[in-house]
Amino acid sequence: MHSRREFLGKLAVSAAVPFVPSFARRSSRLAGGGEKVLKVAIMGLGSYGTRMARAIESCRRVKLTGIITGTPAKREAWQQKYRIPSANCYDYDDFDGIRDNPSIDAVYIITPNALHHDQALRVAAAGKHVISEKPMALTAIQGQQMVDACDRAGVKLLVGYRMHFEPLTLEVLRMRRQGEFGTLRFFQGQSGFRIGDPTQWRLNRKLSGGGAMMDIGIYAINGARYMTGLEPLWVTAQQTKTDPVKFPEGVDETIQFQMGFPDGVVASCLSTYNMNFLDRFYLVGDKGFAELHPATGYGPIRGRTHQGPLTSTAATQQTLQMDAMAGIILDGDTPMVPADGTEGVRDLKIIDAIYESCRTGQLCRLE
Ligand code: NDP
Repeated sequence: MHSRREFLGKLAVSAAVPFVPSFARRSSRLAGGGEKVLKVAIMGLGSYGTRMARAIESCRRVKLTGIITGTPAKREAWQQKYRIPSANCYDYDDFDGIRDNPSIDAVYIITPNALHHDQALRVAAAGKHVISEKPMALTAIQGQQMVDACDRAGVKLLVGYRMHFEPLTLEVLRMRRQGEFGTLRFFQGQSGFRIGDPTQWRLNRKLSGGGAMMDIGIYAINGARYMTGLEPLWVTAQQTKTDPVKFPEGVDETIQFQMGFPDGVVASCLSTYNMNFLDRFYLVGDKGFAELHPATGYGPIRGRTHQGPLTSTAATQQTLQMDAMAGIILDGDTPMVPADGTEGVRDLKIIDAIYESCRTGQLCRLE
């Protein structure tokens, strides 16, 4: 039997999804009466690009219309699977040609981290909206250059922060905004997994821009910000390395970091490529708490608060994300938690500061 709390939780979760009213508004109807659909090309047909393409199949407002790949065999397979015409298939040399392709509104960049910046600049120069996977770039300076380039080109820039559209996460944020946890005191974010194949790009600094922090630690940073609704004033960070061969210079294995927010709120976080079972957010205020565990996996996300368990629907996160992003791009929707380039730059400023603190051993103040 479902408890009252679960029942209320379900109601609250659906109420917390900020995109329902905008769908109902149907501000971008097509002449024929249907909703306008965002036509997306995926760049980088790897593991996450494949997951994203499958999720887009269930979207109501997004259609996969193009691909950009450096692997001819994938091009053929994807063309068949998703019925993509040859005219919408590009490689990394010729994709500037999307400029003249009305079948592509936006490009979703899902390549190794170090490539996002230059690829985003080219997509913007071609006049198409940019969705970049996280981390949007390797440094805050690069991220800001992407924001500026998209502003100049008059296109939107979004970052693939799927948790910003995840119903259980949004329910916790609704509770926090309504003061249900009281005065916030503390956030704990643990993000990590044990990485395998030592030859993969994630362990190659030139392509990854770092190590666990760039890949998985960013979830704890981003989560600390959306769970508290605050921006940190300072960070301290300490690095531990047990395997300098697998994790060479510039590729972090494990970093513990602490952040200080206004009004004495503090966060303690862990980012690692060397431990499994670490995907947990814990928020504490003087009247209650929220725990998400797992907090950022592909789902289902599970959670509880001082009032009892939270339950959510089993919707695919990436489908929710992409439909919501179509609303942001096509209708100017405002999500509960922004997922734009400026949001991405805020995370990168913190990553810059964490690496700086690891280098110097000093507390690093943020603007
Ligand atoms: P993969 O290695 O599985 O795929 C990356 C793809 O990028 C490759 O398959 C390839 O596609 C393309 N590519 C272009 N140049 C290179 C290169 N020099 N080396 C390797 N690949 C290249 O990585 P993921 O899909 O796991 O990750 C891609 C991005 O997505 C990363 O930024 C990562 O952080 C992010 N990500 C985000 C997740 C999320 O939940 N938001 C989850 C997982 C990843 P092709 O052959 O078509 O050219």
